[in-house]
Amino acid sequence: MRRGTNLLAVGGFNQAVILDQIRRSPQGLSRVEIAESTGLSAQTISNVSRRLLDSGIIREGEKQNVGPGKPRTLLHLDPTGMYAIGVHLDPTVVTYVLLDLAGNVIADHRAAPPTGPQVTGGAPAVATPEQVIAAMAEQIEAILDRSAVPRDRVLGVGIAAPGPVDAARGMVLNPPLLDGWMRVPLREALAGATGLPVLLEKDVTAAAVAEIWTTDDRSRLRDNFAFFYYGTGIGMGLALDREVLRGASDNAGDIGHILVASSGPICSCGRRGCIGELVVPHYLVDLAVEAKLMPVPFEPLGPGAIDVLFSTLSAAASSGSPDAVTIVETAARHIAAAVVTITNLLDIDQVVFGGPFWKRIAPVALPLITELVNGDPALISPHVIHINDSTIGDDVAAIGAGCLVLDHSLSPRASALLISE
Ligand SMILES: [Zn+2]
Repeated sequence: MRRGTNLLAVGGFNQAVILDQIRRSPQGLSRVEIAESTGLSAQTISNVSRRLLDSGIIREGEKQNVGPGKPRTLLHLDPTGMYAIGVHLDPTVVTYVLLDLAGNVIADHRAAPPTGPQVTGGAPAVATPEQVIAAMAEQIEAILDRSAVPRDRVLGVGIAAPGPVDAARGMVLNPPLLDGWMRVPLREALAGATGLPVLLEKDVTAAAVAEIWTTDDRSRLRDNFAFFYYGTGIGMGLALDREVLRGASDNAGDIGHILVASSGPICSCGRRGCIGELVVPHYLVDLAVEAKLMPVPFEPLGPGAIDVLFSTLSAAASSGSPDAVTIVETAARHIAAAVVTITNLLDIDQVVFGGPFWKRIAPVALPLITELVNGDPALISPHVIHINDSTIGDDVAAIGAGCLVLDHSLSPRASALLISE
């Protein structure tokens, strides 16, 4: 069970059950139908729907004639009734989204993390966590101002951060790619700076939440799936029976040390051949420089330069340049090997690929991964493994963080009884 959240549920358990039914029926639902599907009494449904109507979370729609008797009024979710903010903290870019109650993106914004004071003649210093958090609070205010959303209609802020995290305490522990972020109490700090309730989730888990929240169609998203997150680093979000898997410390999905080769750069764990080193954008860019696909840089590559050079490499691979194709295909082979291990372990039948760097290599990597995974003699599952791109796009982790706020506030769950006041 998730503990330590300061996020309020919209109402009690019955209210969440009723709202969940209405939310899942875009065509509208009558009070009689809600009574039939929930088993709640007519009086309870009448009371709760009155409260939801008064608070603007649902609205009455058209009347439905069903045989003799009074026509039934259909109840609809009012997407403008409440909002949630999602933030994705990535080492190179912070993404902000404002979601309405239906999970639609109303506004979005991307900003590079601020840089610290510049030393004369040197590169700008990395900003401290405090500076990044202050900038986050400013951007959240700006996005609310621009979209003219009343503050009292904002349920809260969800933050997706690179792991490892201590979700119970709302802390970012020591992500390998975020310098200076050692046990930072991000949730409390941002709640203090914005005055809004805040939730923290590992970014790959947030991405899986986004898939579940935005896709009801089982033919597009299966109940047991993994989300392969391809960003500055890599990770996997896991979902079993449509519930995300968080694990004992909310850090499930760290695949970085799965060995997929017998050589490669030395990993932080001291071994060679870890997938977390072999397939990430900065390593592929290093290989491209070695292969003389691009000029040797004068200084160590920063995040911005890696982003640009990775685009160059991906474009070369997509247009069939042999060395570039080899680099991307080799990464795809490593990814396929890890995917087979994970699908065998969990018996999942779908892997969704996404994250800020994924789209660029997808044209070359996705067909190859599909072929390799399903043709691998080590694959145990008797079923096909469906492999596809996320339809959500680059903002998937930020959207997932926002969906998490909606999920905590709207979904009927036993823990909602403990956190509602
Ligand atoms: Zn390792």
